[in-house]
Amino acid sequence: MIDLRTVHVTAVIFACLCLYMLLIHRSTPGLRGVRQIVYGYAAFALGAELLALRGRIPDFFSITVANSILILINVFLYWGIAELLNLRPKRWFLPSSVIPTAVMSLYFSYVHPDVSFRIIAISAIAVLQYGFIVYLLSGPGPRRIHMPRRGLAALFTVYAALNIYRAWEAHLHDPRSLISSVPTSTFSFITPILIAVMTALGVIWLAMAQLQNELEAQSRTDSLTGLLNRRALEQIGTAAIEYARRQSAALSLIILDLDHFKSINDEHGHDGGDAALHHAARCLRENLRDVDHVARLGGEEFVAVLPGTTHARAAEIAEGLRRCLANLTVEHLSQEIRLSASFGVATMLPTDTTWLEILRRGDRALYLAKEQGRDRVALL
Ligand code: GH3
Ligand code: MG
Ligand code: MG
Repeated sequence: MIDLRTVHVTAVIFACLCLYMLLIHRSTPGLRGVRQIVYGYAAFALGAELLALRGRIPDFFSITVANSILILINVFLYWGIAELLNLRPKRWFLPSSVIPTAVMSLYFSYVHPDVSFRIIAISAIAVLQYGFIVYLLSGPGPRRIHMPRRGLAALFTVYAALNIYRAWEAHLHDPRSLISSVPTSTFSFITPILIAVMTALGVIWLAMAQLQNELEAQSRTDSLTGLLNRRALEQIGTAAIEYARRQSAALSLIILDLDHFKSINDEHGHDGGDAALHHAARCLRENLRDVDHVARLGGEEFVAVLPGTTHARAAEIAEGLRRCLANLTVEHLSQEIRLSASFGVATMLPTDTTWLEILRRGDRALYLAKEQGRDRVALL
């Protein structure tokens, strides 16, 4: 049972939260999904206010239009959560929510007036919408955002349960008593307010966790090639050597530097050089395993960390990478850029205590390869 005063207060609370979320969105555009909450809360505030005017405006507006607008909040929530999770929202979600709501509302108001059925039908649509949102939130994703995802999924499950309860209540009671003009229980007064606040906080929680995840990934990534950067390589190298020591496993690295890269830049321009770096990075990634890590150390120098790989195997892999780069033709401004690279290979020794010791040996091997004439692999 809900009273008109509660509906009005709910509309005001949603409008205030909408304004607050708008300010959050404007000041932190990186928090995805908040924009859609703003739209959803605006729609809900408007719909609830129309509903609260029951008896003072034509029923068509306070019933059909109000319900069709109210249901939009779930459409916007669905859209916002999909965007937050980098998923493509389904286009059918909007029409499949609004059209049945409008049709049911009209049918059970004018063709076959029945308030109970109207409430049951609209609650059923909302339950379906919550089902889709919970489904979206339950998919796989990065570990860091598991908790906010599960939290929001639980919240939407509760909303679905509340709608089922509402439909059941409509089925049992005299429908005309469901909307009353006298204040009802604290429960029915508090519930919509809690829903408004908890949903907003839940979406901001998820958006923040997602943003932090993305920023962390960015801080470990080289923007030109999409490979790991020097900072990430240091962390991974240190973790790899510790793991290899604990497991008594092999660990090798390959370090490579593109040959005469300065003349590629001189001949094809800086953009040509960048295109060559991009293609070289792809060649490296495609020829290594998922468990290997490839980083751009800076300039035209790359490092691959190969866990569980012996010196001899690493030398073979380096030779494969050398061939891949030597066979690469990069098209740039209708010109062909040809590349080659020199490689140094080094493997962890029992005396190595830090990652830098292996890296230095790899660097010395690379220097040898350059000295010996470039486009080759040297071992140390
Ligand atoms: P070597 O065979 O001895 O390695 O010669 P090199 O010309 O490749 O080596 P050098 O270190 O003299 O020059 C490296 C060049 O790489 C100089 C620099 O302008 C260029 N470079 C560094 N970073 C970038 C980048 O991000 N993009 C482009 N296009 N060029 C870069
Ligand atoms: Mg070079
Ligand atoms: Mg260099």
